[in-house]
Amino acid sequence: MEFLEVKEIINHQPKVFIVTHKNPDGDAMGSSLGLYNYLLKKGASVTVVAPTDYPVFLDWIEGNNKVKVWGRDDQEIILAAESADLLFCLDFNALHRIDDVGDLVSKAKGKKVMIDHHQQPDDFADYMISDTTACSTAEMVYEFIDQLGDAELIDRAVGEALYCGIMTDTGSFRFPSTTSKTHRITADLLDKGVDNSMVHRRIYDSNTPARLKLMGHCLLNMEIIEEQHAAYIQISKKDHARLKIKKGDSEGIVNFGLSMSNIKCSAFFREDKDIVKISFRSKDDFNVNEFARKYFNGGGHINAAGGMSKDSLENTIRTFKKSLIEFIDEKK
Ligand code: 5GP
Ligand code: MN
Repeated sequence: MEFLEVKEIINHQPKVFIVTHKNPDGDAMGSSLGLYNYLLKKGASVTVVAPTDYPVFLDWIEGNNKVKVWGRDDQEIILAAESADLLFCLDFNALHRIDDVGDLVSKAKGKKVMIDHHQQPDDFADYMISDTTACSTAEMVYEFIDQLGDAELIDRAVGEALYCGIMTDTGSFRFPSTTSKTHRITADLLDKGVDNSMVHRRIYDSNTPARLKLMGHCLLNMEIIEEQHAAYIQISKKDHARLKIKKGDSEGIVNFGLSMSNIKCSAFFREDKDIVKISFRSKDDFNVNEFARKYFNGGGHINAAGGMSKDSLENTIRTFKKSLIEFIDEKK
C-alpha cells in the first residue's frame, strides 16, 4: 500500500479504529488521542481502543472519556474493528502486544497502518511507518499529519496529546532520543497553544499518598548487584494489597535504579495474577530490548523494554541474576 492511498482514505471521512498497546503509557494514549482529535477534524468517525485500562494521570487528555477499553466495551470494539476502513496500530509493532484485540485487528477487512518506534517490527500492517530512532510515536504522528498536508489542523487538543507522548517517552526531554527535531516539533506545539507546564503538572504532580509510600517501599528495598552494575526492585502480590497499589502507581519507578552513576541496568518486577511483569531500563550500549527478548518473552527499545515470566517472583529474580551474568559475558 502507498502513502497516497492512506491519504485518499483519510480525506474521505472514513471509519477509523485506533488501537495502542496494553497497559497504555503517556505515549500510547498521547499518540492515539492526538491522532483521534486530528481525524475528528477531518470528519472521520473514530474509535480509540485500549486493550487494558490506563492510569488516572492520563485521564485529562481530550477525548479520553471516549476511549473504549477491552473487557468493558467489547461489543463496541468488535463492531468498530469490523466496520473500519482504516485501522491504526500505534506505539506497538506486534499483535500480541494488544492481547485479544489482536485477533480482531488481524481479521479486520480495513487497511492497517502501523506507526511505531520500537525495535524489530512484525510484518502485519498494509502500511508501516517504523522509525526506531524516533523519540516517541507521538512525534511520528505529528510528522504523519504534517506529511498529509494538514499541519494547520494541529490545534491545542491535538497538540496537548502529542506533547504528552513526547514528554513522557523522552523522560521530559532528557533521553538521548531527544533531538533538535523533537524540540522544533515541541516548540511548534507550544505555538499552537499547548500549555507545557499544565501537561507536566497533570502527569507528574499526580502522586497520591499510596504512590509516594510505594516509592518509599521500593527505594528502601532496592537491591544492587555490584558486579553486573545492576539494580532491581520487586513488588509482590502481598505488597500490592498492603500498599493499596492502583494501576499506574508503579509507572516510572524502574528509572530510580539508573539514577546511580555506576548502574547500567535497572529492573522492576511486579507480581501479577499469574505472571510477573518486568520493566527494564539501561544506559549506553546495554541492550535491554535484546535482553528482554532473549530471557523474558519481551522487547521494546535498546534502553527501555519490558517482558514477563510465568515463574514465581523468586525464581524470576534468580533467572534474572543468572541471565545478567550470561548476557554480559557473551558481550565481552
Ligand atoms: P514499560 O517498562 O514502560 O512497561 O515498557 C518499556 C518499553 O518496552 C515500552 O516501550 C513498551 O512498549 C515496551 N514493552 C514493555 N513490555 C513489553 C513486552 O512484554 N513485550 C514487548 N515487545 N515490548 C514491551
Ligand atoms: Mn512510545
